Amino acid sequence: MKKIAVLGSTGSIGTNTLELADKLKDSFAVVGLAAGSNTPLLIKQVEKFRPKVVSLKTREDALKVRDHFKNLSLRVVHGPEGAEEVARFEDNDIVVSAITGIEGLRPTLSAVRAGRRIALANKESLVVAGVILQAEARVSGAEIIPVDSEHSGVFQCLAKEQKAQVKKVTLTASGGPFFKTPLLEIGAKSVEEALIHPRWKMGKKVTIDSATLMNKGLELIEAHWLFGLAPAELDVLIHPQSIVHSLVAMRDGSVLAQLSATDMKIPIQYALTYPERANSMLPPLDLSRVGPLEFYEVDEQKYPLLPLARKALEEEQSLPVALNAANEAAVTAFLSKRIGFSSIADIVRRTMDKHTLIEVGSLEAVFEVDKETRAQAEELIKQRF
Ligand code: MG
Repeated sequence: MKKIAVLGSTGSIGTNTLELADKLKDSFAVVGLAAGSNTPLLIKQVEKFRPKVVSLKTREDALKVRDHFKNLSLRVVHGPEGAEEVARFEDNDIVVSAITGIEGLRPTLSAVRAGRRIALANKESLVVAGVILQAEARVSGAEIIPVDSEHSGVFQCLAKEQKAQVKKVTLTASGGPFFKTPLLEIGAKSVEEALIHPRWKMGKKVTIDSATLMNKGLELIEAHWLFGLAPAELDVLIHPQSIVHSLVAMRDGSVLAQLSATDMKIPIQYALTYPERANSMLPPLDLSRVGPLEFYEVDEQKYPLLPLARKALEEEQSLPVALNAANEAAVTAFLSKRIGFSSIADIVRRTMDKHTLIEVGSLEAVFEVDKETRAQAEELIKQRF
């Protein structure tokens, strides 16, 4: 029996993980849950899975949950330290890291330091602190298995191959809701329109990142750290059907691809059961019903954030931290209708232009750059009124 902790348990990846844990309950037990502020859902999850420890964002919500389960021996903690405690909790074998944004970094690092298997859905932690996470994982023996569908695909293709044989890895992108929208009309798109993703059901932040293709930019940086690939070995193709998740071109001309239904349960389950596989709870992929599979080059005028992310990948040091911080600030501003859709890329570009590169070898340095960059992005957002 493997013991799982789920960080971000009430989000999209979290609820999918718990559905799988329920289906595979003979093999997995849920021992820890960290949620944000969806207390009603967390209470339901505790009733069903009976974990030993849970964490909420605020003390007030934690007190509510403690009161609700006063007859149960349940440890209830809160805040960033609370999520870290759930991550390193004594009993965990696997920590599903699915808190969105840089907020997921400290708990992910906590699980890495404890030497757990990390089923990693929080891509931002590798983007801003890849060098730190990989160094800590080497020391503790922690195993980082990607949950992101494209990276799970690459991971599966590489299972029996040597990295030296790989020529190029291509991540596919659906192109988001505006793939067919003429360039001049994109700027006027509303929050509601940007949140209608054609293929994937995900949280709001990643859905907006998919519409701008920043999600793919962050994934390029994530792939660099996960698989030790150089920027020139990483590429992106638009594939609106989202059936082929990634392609691995070998030096002898063979290309390996991973295909599956567009459902996060498949990569999550693989990260939990690896190196084994378990039966899927989904209908099998029927390519005769999917229809044609299309692939297109990325139009960088339409998706200006992708070349900015590539620049951050190439220059490294603090630039990926600045890219991520400016993007998080801009997406939050867009979601609260303070800026328009096209301004997201403008804010990120102008913030990156102002950025002075420094080494970020410690967590403190990462958070310092993050804080400074957010303040700069916030200034630019204010000027837009
Ligand atoms: Mg992805």
